[in-house]
Amino acid sequence: MIGAVDIGGTKIAVGLVDDAGRVLSRAEGSTDPGRGYPEALERTQQMLRALSSSTGVELTGIGIGSTGPVDPLTGEIGEVNFFPAWRGNNPVIDLARIFDVRVAMENDADAAALAEAAWGAGKGKKSLIYVTVGTGIGAGVVLDGQLYRGVDGAHPEIGHHVIESSGPACVCGFHGCWESLAAGPAMVGWVEGKMPADYPHRANLTAKRICELANDGDPLALQACEREAHYLGLGLANLVTLFTPDAIVLGGSVMKSAVLFLDGIRATIVRCCRLVPFEKTELTLASLGDDANLIGAARVWYHRFARGEEHSV
Ligand SMILES: [Zn+2]
Repeated sequence: MIGAVDIGGTKIAVGLVDDAGRVLSRAEGSTDPGRGYPEALERTQQMLRALSSSTGVELTGIGIGSTGPVDPLTGEIGEVNFFPAWRGNNPVIDLARIFDVRVAMENDADAAALAEAAWGAGKGKKSLIYVTVGTGIGAGVVLDGQLYRGVDGAHPEIGHHVIESSGPACVCGFHGCWESLAAGPAMVGWVEGKMPADYPHRANLTAKRICELANDGDPLALQACEREAHYLGLGLANLVTLFTPDAIVLGGSVMKSAVLFLDGIRATIVRCCRLVPFEKTELTLASLGDDANLIGAARVWYHRFARGEEHSV
């Protein structure tokens, strides 16, 4: 049984996950980066111990998926927006010491990509790209069952490729990258910029709320969803053209409303991908649901250690 740790910007979730990707038990707490890394490590340790003792299950390993950048080969936390002061700390070494088990870590999008490839919608696919659309856009590429890595194990930031160079500035350094145009906050920003003073839904706008309003027929929300489908479609069409993968698996909170976007996405792919066999790339929704990141964290361990291929990824 693997202990899974999903380190996000707002919460840290832990779980016990078996070798079929089933979550047997879970717990979560706020990340609370201001209280410091040692305190977060202590809480994570306590949550894992509580799960282990309440189920009577001994951990055989720990897998971590973390918001990035993190170094998957050394386990070191990089300059992460949500917890910059944690830079240089190493949860892989720390949890291995505390629990006396092997520990592996990946960027959370890569972790979820591995889980969808092994246990989810991408099962059996030779090449797949997992794309998560929520407060940001993350992606992981799995080729022949292996995670694609860049130089020194770097995670490519597919969510930050340029769609429209006259678009909004992003922390990545580009203007008009995919995330700046198509992540949840971009939908909210666009509606806020367009809504009239008497727009009845001004308060507490979120991407989820905009999708609900679109389903109710609100004209501005419908336009926002049309725009979202356009930009999602352009980014996905780029991925189809660049990689011609067997499948693209779509996850994340915004994709819970995928029915609002899929027709527009497909129309863009048909229009833009004429030089590649785009019709052979299956566009599918993630199947692991809200537990994708947690299951992904466990999959990181199985992928690294349980296949006798420790040095291949
Ligand atoms: Zn960017």
